[in-house]
Amino acid sequence: MNTVKATAGSIKKAAALIRAGGVVAFPTETVYGLGADGLNPVACARIFEIKGRPRFDPLILHECSAARARKLFSCVPAPALRLMKKFWPGPLTLVLPKAAAVPGIVTAGLKTVAVRVPGNRHALALIKAAGRPIAAPSANSFGRLSPTTAEHVSRQLGNGPDLILDGGKTDIGVESTIITFEKGRPVLLRPGGLPLEEIEKLTGPAARPGKTGGKSPLAPGCLKKHYAPKARLKIIEPGRAPRPSLRAAYLAFRRKPAGNWAAVKVLSRSGDLREAAAGLFGALHALEGAGVPLIYAEKVPMHGLGRAIMDRLKHGAA
Ligand code: AMP
Ligand code: MG
Repeated sequence: MNTVKATAGSIKKAAALIRAGGVVAFPTETVYGLGADGLNPVACARIFEIKGRPRFDPLILHECSAARARKLFSCVPAPALRLMKKFWPGPLTLVLPKAAAVPGIVTAGLKTVAVRVPGNRHALALIKAAGRPIAAPSANSFGRLSPTTAEHVSRQLGNGPDLILDGGKTDIGVESTIITFEKGRPVLLRPGGLPLEEIEKLTGPAARPGKTGGKSPLAPGCLKKHYAPKARLKIIEPGRAPRPSLRAAYLAFRRKPAGNWAAVKVLSRSGDLREAAAGLFGALHALEGAGVPLIYAEKVPMHGLGRAIMDRLKHGAA
């Protein structure tokens, strides 16, 4: 068993493992990350092996302060600086031109690098103690459901990581929002834990990749099938449940569906999209555990965190 509770002592041990080229799973406020020394290409390569990523998708570098994070970029446009000041630490990743020190394996050969400062005290303590940026994708097997508890991590990755730090259930529950800039304008690469509306208040309207007329940056995490449960996922209108079946599970937004299902989860009785996002992957893990071939998932409203939830459901259903 390589899972330990996150404490000052275990974080110190985890930091030593990272410095020695090891791989450690750790909690962030979004989902659990699978971390290695972000300046050590061999250590980063182990992340890909453990996840079974078929090719080298770029990794997000995690830093413990905005001042240190900035050093990983070679230039930062003014609106990006405003975002850092306002939202870090927090569920926002910025993709900007990389500094020379960032190894190619982290960026999959791109000239840009993705960086964020996570808003979780264990993650920040780990990065600080490691004394270097930690490269970390989500701590799941490639393409599968993201982990929001240490148990989700150990179920998928077993003894792959050298250590799993257990910091309880993650607060936000969906991955970070990823923003880049093209010709000074913000571009949304992935909806996530920071609502787009909050970002646009500081930057003006954000474009979708490839819609600015500039050369669109690659957003490889946007592979069609991603975040997928083992069962087939089918998205439906709320309250339009098909005939109840014990061979299907049901993910409701606000209200339990009528009839008997193999398993049912309700994301938020009050319709709170934050609560829904925080419980999304946990609910999908539980429904997947029912062992049925089909999961129905209700649509949620497309504002605030609803955008990130729908993005994950659509990818899971692809
Ligand atoms: P995750 O596996 O959840 O940590 O997702 C990381 C994602 O960040 C990648 O799959 C990409 O979509 C995105 N990303 C990281 N680096 C870059 C980059 N340089 N350019 C565009 N997207 C990036
Ligand atoms: Mg992921």
